[in-house]
Amino acid sequence: MTIDLRLAFGWAITGVGAALVGWRIAFLLRLLANGRPAPGRMKNLGAQIKAELTDVFGQRKLLKRPGPGLAHFFTFWGFIALIFTIVEVYGDLFSQSFAIPLFGTSRALGFVEDFFAAAVLVAIIAFTAIRIYQNPARRSRKSRFYGSHTGAAWFTLFMIFLVIATLVLYRGAQIDTNDFPFGKTWITFFSRAVSLAMAGAGHQTNVDIATAFILAQIAVLWGFFVFVLHSKHLHIFISEPNVLFSRRPKALGPLHTTPDLDPEKMDEDTVFGTGLIGHLTWKQRLDLMSCTECGRCQDQCPAWATEKPLSPKLVIMDLRDHMFASAKDLLSGHAGDGPVASKPLVPDVIHDDVLWSCTTCGACVEQCPVDIEHLDHILDMRRYQVLMDARFPSEGGLMLRNIENQGDPWGLGSGQRLAWTEGLGFDVPVVDGTIPDDVEYLFWVGCAGALDERARRTTQAIARLLHQAGINFAVLGPKESCTGDPARRLGNEYLYQTQAQTNIETLQSAGVKKIIASCPHCFNSISREYPALGGNFEVYHHTQVLSRLLSSGSLRPQSPVDKKITYHDPCYLGRHNEVYDEPRDVLGHVPGVKVEEMHRCRSRGFCCGAGGARMWLEEKIGTRINVNRTDEALGTGADVISTACPYCLIMLDDATKSRQAEGSAREEVRVMDVAQVLEQSLSAAPGPSEGAAGEPSA
Ligand code: SF4
Ligand code: SF4
Repeated sequence: MTIDLRLAFGWAITGVGAALVGWRIAFLLRLLANGRPAPGRMKNLGAQIKAELTDVFGQRKLLKRPGPGLAHFFTFWGFIALIFTIVEVYGDLFSQSFAIPLFGTSRALGFVEDFFAAAVLVAIIAFTAIRIYQNPARRSRKSRFYGSHTGAAWFTLFMIFLVIATLVLYRGAQIDTNDFPFGKTWITFFSRAVSLAMAGAGHQTNVDIATAFILAQIAVLWGFFVFVLHSKHLHIFISEPNVLFSRRPKALGPLHTTPDLDPEKMDEDTVFGTGLIGHLTWKQRLDLMSCTECGRCQDQCPAWATEKPLSPKLVIMDLRDHMFASAKDLLSGHAGDGPVASKPLVPDVIHDDVLWSCTTCGACVEQCPVDIEHLDHILDMRRYQVLMDARFPSEGGLMLRNIENQGDPWGLGSGQRLAWTEGLGFDVPVVDGTIPDDVEYLFWVGCAGALDERARRTTQAIARLLHQAGINFAVLGPKESCTGDPARRLGNEYLYQTQAQTNIETLQSAGVKKIIASCPHCFNSISREYPALGGNFEVYHHTQVLSRLLSSGSLRPQSPVDKKITYHDPCYLGRHNEVYDEPRDVLGHVPGVKVEEMHRCRSRGFCCGAGGARMWLEEKIGTRINVNRTDEALGTGADVISTACPYCLIMLDDATKSRQAEGSAREEVRVMDVAQVLEQSLSAAPGPSEGAAGEPSA
């Protein structure tokens, strides 16, 4: 074939491919630009660039699973390295002996190109093996690919194979025709091996083979490009900006604070949360386009693991499919009244049982390799249901009324807030006016810590430990009110903000600077979410303070606690706030304790089932999350299941007792906060039976 003909074919394929790609990119950009604003997405540029480098170029999250992670790593870097071969292919259309100027004949470049061609081929063999092993039809819900579009994934693997096959075939032929930029050398081992197989074909045949596969390579590349932009593999180009624009320092963080909840400022166009696909922000639309359907989120979801209908992957996929189906309405300005876009997201696209099954544990966001913020999608849909449609599980209504009227989810009222201080053996100062100068910390007790009999024992243990270490602290007593966290996680942003503003005002007028919180939900709200409403305090979780007191020698454990203990990471302490080490450090200081980790620990910890206001909702579908978690803890053979959250304590204790009643758990097993374990090893500590949560509740 003459050079002119090669050029004509090459540019014809390129012209058609570029037109199709350009049309699709323009469509996707219009769809994104049509989304609602997502303010503050570039306000932490340093952390955003760092995440781009570590998570996209370093593939940090994917490498947590070494098998598929390495395969993905080499595919990603392979496609970057093979950009050089694309330049060579186009150069070859003009001259059969083309080499990239300056470095195009260097052996290093030849090796890099061949190495990555071979690495990508090995990676697609690995992907094929993983997909066969994880065959959804065979493994059912247990496969992380359950519900994914596996047909498109197989086609993509085939296309990647074609990219590599056409590449090494034309390079092998070029070696035999002496047109290869790197000459006949084993440094380009892959191409050289292929050339040996083709050497007998003769010079002219190899010239024709090289031409045919160069054109085939161009056709495959453009075909792949067009296919990718029309499939879930869109993530190949979209995940990079999605990681860049995600919340930093990590995608799992404080919820967006809805502004202007003032009824005076509302009109008929005011919308809170997400009720229609048109209500999504551009970042949320970018999220939907980024999903790779890898199922890592589904694999870690406690709701999915206990047979609930919620899979975070399927939520994202269903919203994405609906977004593309609604594109015509969205782009023609009919987001609210078009035939498709006017469908209410709940229940038409996302079923009620899916929406209300979420515990907001954050495992999905933590796992997602492309930093999709599932929780924002779920919470925004809950906000719409609660604030716009008044549709939510009836049990949640009682909890909301209790917070509104009594300041706590149980409705016990402020009169009970100091009951835990009785019998402590010392006085706990209650702030009246401003906090005294000699009092360093305000101890934020939390509703469960003050009102639940089992959680009160932890509160008492913490108070005794602080007292013993000589820490001056005070409490708000009846002036303390629910942080609003359960209301916010249920979707009632209005009630959350009312509670938060009242608490901020109380704390500020008392002159509080430093806070110790024993409940991770309070800890998270006050430290991470109150700043958006003007509340800025120095907040510590009790395990952080205890760990410091132990390191400084202010607390000195003496008596051995000869127990095997397993530690359960509370989601809002661990995953949401990355406090993993301090609770373990406290246990590590206790002589005699043998710590046995559960398989699902730290960032892969499994929820207790209480978060996302699920504590107050009935669990009618599937098996119980707290029982699933407790079974894992019991499986370690531990004598004590320890934790650092009053809600986890209650949930795990309930499940332990039910297993003990069935006879499948040892009677001696106890559920305790790490503070209670520590207290046992200090002098004048209560005995195990007094300190454990496994005692009857009031
Ligand atoms: S936050 Fe937890 S429960 Fe909710 S979807 Fe994600 S993994 Fe599942
Ligand atoms: S949401 Fe993230 S983790 Fe889940 S399937 Fe999509 S890409 Fe994978």
